[in-house]
Amino acid sequence: MSRPAGPKSVRRARRPADAQALQLNFERRLIQLFLAANDCTGGMRDAIRAICAELHWSCGVCWRVEESPAGLSELARWPDRVPDGSPAAVITAPPPPWLGDEPVWIGDPGADESTSREPDAWRPAGPGMILPIRSDSRLLGFIAFEGPVTQKSAAVAANTLRAAGPIVSLHLHHALGAEQLRDSVRRLASTLTLAAVGIAHVDDSGRFLYANPRLCQMLEYSEAELLQLNVKQVSHPDDIDITDGMRDRLRRGDIDSFKMEKRYLRKDGSAIWVALTVAVRRDNAGRRMYDVSIVEDISARKIAEDQVQYLATHDGLTGLPNRAMFVQLLALATESAKRRGSKVAVLFIDLDRFKIINDSLGHDAGDALLREMAVRFRACVRSSDIVARLGGDEFVVVLQDVSDQAQVSTLAHHILSVAMRPVEINRQDCRVTASIGICLHPEAAQDDQTALKNADLAMYAAKEAGKNSYQFYSSSLCAHSAGRLAIETHLRQALERNELSLQYQAQVNIETGSITGVEALLRWDSVELGSVAPLQFIPVAEETGLIIPIGRWVLRTACAQSARWLREGLRPVRLCVNLSMRQLQDDRLVADIAGALSDHGVPPNLLELELTESMIMHNTERAMRMLSDIKRLGVRLAIDDFGTGYSSLAQLKRLPIDTLKVDRSFIREIPREAEDRAITQAIIAMGKTLSLTIVAEGVETPQQKAFLREHACDEMQGFYFSTPVPPDEFAALLRRTSAT
Ligand code: C2E
Ligand code: MG
Ligand code: MG
Repeated sequence: MSRPAGPKSVRRARRPADAQALQLNFERRLIQLFLAANDCTGGMRDAIRAICAELHWSCGVCWRVEESPAGLSELARWPDRVPDGSPAAVITAPPPPWLGDEPVWIGDPGADESTSREPDAWRPAGPGMILPIRSDSRLLGFIAFEGPVTQKSAAVAANTLRAAGPIVSLHLHHALGAEQLRDSVRRLASTLTLAAVGIAHVDDSGRFLYANPRLCQMLEYSEAELLQLNVKQVSHPDDIDITDGMRDRLRRGDIDSFKMEKRYLRKDGSAIWVALTVAVRRDNAGRRMYDVSIVEDISARKIAEDQVQYLATHDGLTGLPNRAMFVQLLALATESAKRRGSKVAVLFIDLDRFKIINDSLGHDAGDALLREMAVRFRACVRSSDIVARLGGDEFVVVLQDVSDQAQVSTLAHHILSVAMRPVEINRQDCRVTASIGICLHPEAAQDDQTALKNADLAMYAAKEAGKNSYQFYSSSLCAHSAGRLAIETHLRQALERNELSLQYQAQVNIETGSITGVEALLRWDSVELGSVAPLQFIPVAEETGLIIPIGRWVLRTACAQSARWLREGLRPVRLCVNLSMRQLQDDRLVADIAGALSDHGVPPNLLELELTESMIMHNTERAMRMLSDIKRLGVRLAIDDFGTGYSSLAQLKRLPIDTLKVDRSFIREIPREAEDRAITQAIIAMGKTLSLTIVAEGVETPQQKAFLREHACDEMQGFYFSTPVPPDEFAALLRRTSAT
């Protein structure tokens, strides 16, 4: 009879009662072995030894099924591996697929079909028995025993193995579980240690129970120090309430986790921004154990965000709030004014002739001037008031809690005087003035936007009133202020539609009272817009280039008028015509002037061209050549609005000029303002040293006249003597005064 070749599941052998007792005894021993074992491998080795001893087998190896990478690893063997130190085997072979729940007998592995059918699978090296180790039907591993076994002895051995099976399985199951747990704890620990985010466990009262190295590093505390602290102690005071609120909701169970951005305080007191995620950690019974906080340092992002926010809301040049921010600040200010039943004043400030400084001295100079103005305006107001730059040379100040108009007037006065103080640019003193429009809100405007618009309109009125002044908005004040666009549209047709005309204002010798000259002043009566003031339309004409044909028309019309007066037998007086900067850049200017004079037969020395200071502070070769060419015609030159712009005595000396006209903003407050008196006096004195004729503009009162006379000013022009009038009226005036 041929010997059966394994593997075969072995049938249960009958067990007599004493055999049962022996088996119980064996099981107990096995359990004790496992309980006494130090570790999984040691316990398993002892078990293999005990089973081999029981069955008189020579050796056994326990293989463990690995999942990733798939294969088998040697967990324990008995007798011990020859002490050559070679490590426990790990093989990629899968466990034998024929392994079921029952112990298997292998008679002759070489001859057995099923063991050789799966060439890759694990195969026993020699005859023996295999005990599968399963837990919940999952194959955890198996023990391969080698030894002389016959089919008959196998049946008995199988009983022993069956008894050992559950005990071995239980041991392995626990050992593996514990090992997995240890593994995951180890993994978690290294994650916490290496994590790029801060991690903390915090108890109900806010105390740190755990803090990982990254959190310690972030807050610059040692772990020991941090564990002595409460989260509140490392939180920014402003963020404590909101964090507390969230933790309360967590505690009440309303939420299970929350995220927020807040500030923590470092050990040195400095703040860092963090993104905080807090989640509740519960025990198996669902009770709250502690909170897990994940803390991410977002300071860099916050700084970048703040930077973007700052740039979006502030003017890069002056650091003042920009228009966008101003709109918001104004809204807040009016809101609180409404609540308190008070008013705010919106002051719209525009620098006079800023564009010219910018164009002639360069943008860097313009920027420096704006920065300086920003500092000065800011210093004029309380910290609760708003100072913003809307763009260009436009600033706006919002005064809060305004009680009366006088308070605002005082501030406006102050702003005008600080604007006027010299600014040193390129080592030269430079002076600008400002015009301010004021709107009291909500008194003179129903909403913020209107308040700003009204202040802007009032500012234009201030410019019209001669610059370097302020004006309160009133509905009548700006009724006639036409929009810029409308001006541009209709100005293009003004010449051909004959809407332009000239008025004439006398200049008088202060000493004798006789008329010495007359200034031609442009008037525009638009069909659509009504009468538009020169200060409104001349800047538009300059910007659009329309000033060239218009200026040419003024020159010819004024010369024609002068010739007519002469023909009518009137005493010859100087004819003053204003020139604008743009005209000075026109190559045809000199030829135009010569043409106008000769065409109408006006002697060149009767014509005086008025230039503004800003036009000649260029002092470019070109401008200088142009002025010399004009002078060569025999025409006189005057500097208009002197004192508000930027020109020094040294510059004046180099210019071929004859007359200096003192700006009326200095005359206006004479004799009340000491500073204005001093400036006027200085200009007169300076002009005298250069042998210039000094004309004071805007003289309205006898006191002003007396002051000028006292300081030896040559001539005056102003409402005190005559307003600008049509040609006939001027002729009558000239006749009348010449007769007396
Ligand atoms: P400006 O050349 O300084 O002319 C004097 C301005 O002061 C005139 O304003 C005149 O009406 C005003 N004025 C004269 N006396 C008094 C006074 O006692 N009190 C007050 N409050 N004002 C007085 P207007 O006619 O509105 O002209 C404003 C500016 O427009 C002129 O200032 C001048 O720069 C410019 N302008 C006028 N006509 C022409 C022109 O034909 N060509 C150019 N390029 N500019 C012109
Ligand atoms: Mg003038
Ligand atoms: Mg003037």
